[in-house]
Amino acid sequence: MISFELSEQQNQIKEMTHWFAENEIRPMALEADRLGKVPDDWLHQVNQMGIQLNTSSFGGGGKSSGKRKKEREGNRMGVLATEEMAWGDPAVTLSLPGAGLGGPPIESSGTAEQKERFLSIFTTDKPRWGAYALTEPEAGSDASGVRTTARKVDGGYILNGQKIFITNGGRASWLVVFATVDPKLGRAGQRAFVVEKGTPGFSCTKLVKKMGLRANETAELLLEDCYVRTENLLGGEELYETSGSKPSGFQVAMKTFDSTRPIVASMAIGIARAAYEYTLDIVKKEYPKQGNYFHLASEILAEAEQDIQAARLLTWEAAWMADHGIANAKEAAMCKAYAGQIALDVCAKSLELLGPTGLEGHLVEKLYRDVKVFDIFEGTNEVQHLVIARRQYAPYDIRV
Ligand SMILES: Cc1cc2nc3c(=O)[nH]c(=O)nc-3n(C[C@H](O)[C@H](O)[C@H](O)COP(=O)(O)OP(=O)(O)OC[C@H]3O[C@@H](n4cnc5c(N)ncnc54)[C@H](O)[C@@H]3O)c2cc1C
Repeated sequence: MISFELSEQQNQIKEMTHWFAENEIRPMALEADRLGKVPDDWLHQVNQMGIQLNTSSFGGGGKSSGKRKKEREGNRMGVLATEEMAWGDPAVTLSLPGAGLGGPPIESSGTAEQKERFLSIFTTDKPRWGAYALTEPEAGSDASGVRTTARKVDGGYILNGQKIFITNGGRASWLVVFATVDPKLGRAGQRAFVVEKGTPGFSCTKLVKKMGLRANETAELLLEDCYVRTENLLGGEELYETSGSKPSGFQVAMKTFDSTRPIVASMAIGIARAAYEYTLDIVKKEYPKQGNYFHLASEILAEAEQDIQAARLLTWEAAWMADHGIANAKEAAMCKAYAGQIALDVCAKSLELLGPTGLEGHLVEKLYRDVKVFDIFEGTNEVQHLVIARRQYAPYDIRV
């Protein structure tokens, strides 16, 4: 049975991150959106306070082996903290220094030496970022379609290809980059490499202008005859031996989602809550004088609260399973799909209720633009439904 009661430590992290979100993140959210960046001095300051976006600082990602492991709290801590921070502002949260989405693949598949080398750089002296580079022009939802090549040479690999939509990709100190040693091998041919900033042949070609999350950097990257030493092959050569159940780079990428999808879902919930709370406050003050409109607004806001709580419980369940070492790919997909969908709906309805109060330059208008991508990245809703359907039909040996 899952307990709904938060432990003392869980309550503490929730309260601390809420305080930070309310006092440090929210006050600069609209200005960061207008500027299209989070000011460097602010990032320096929060980094010195030890505030980073590192799943390892919450205790690491989930296992999908199905076997029970010693209980951890990291995934639950992670979803509690990111809901609060995204309530403050999602773009600022994604811009916080730390390993970000690059952390989970290193934690789950890196060698001890790689974990030490790449995860220990996130200290308080200077803000640093990690990134996760899977998406390409021809490989988004279908991660098995990766076309970036990795040609084995003496002592390493030569990478060639293009990556798009990479969060914090331009400023990252290192990126987990997915490539194929042979496109004909499909998933089995995929490998994950850690490419360090400054490696010859690796460059950031463009920072993308977006509808939402404008303050957060999204980059396009190019790998042109980029030589990467074998020491940077994630997990080492032995991880990719094809015999038995050894994973390919594809599985490294998929395993990451088991812990990152609940985190992304919790961010969508934080955004929905921010829009809902703001609108509720206005409705309480303004609408009672307006008869029927008040009833209509109350019904919309009651549904919003119900949806937010349902999404939160799905998310907590997926995080709880990851903490207990229980396979959670289906639950991670469910919470991600549901939270992304209801968050979009809550923001749209909040905007409708606010009317002219919700025009450009207003918090809820910004949240409405920001929330759209939450049903796209980390897998679109259609892809989450495919993940769920595959598990529904698995006992019947039907392939979806
Ligand atoms: C702001 C932002 C940040 C991002 N950050 C990162 C990052 O840090 N690292 C990274 O690697 N990527 C990142 N991405 C990329 C993101 O993960 C992809 O955009 C996403 O996976 C969808 O891929 P796509 O855009 O190529 O769409 P496509 O795969 O081309 O999909 C287009 C449409 O077709 C649907 N579709 C596709 N296949 C199927 C199917 N089999 N069945 C039913 N419907 C299907 C999709 O649901 C979608 O509606 C980011 C994207 C954005 C917008």
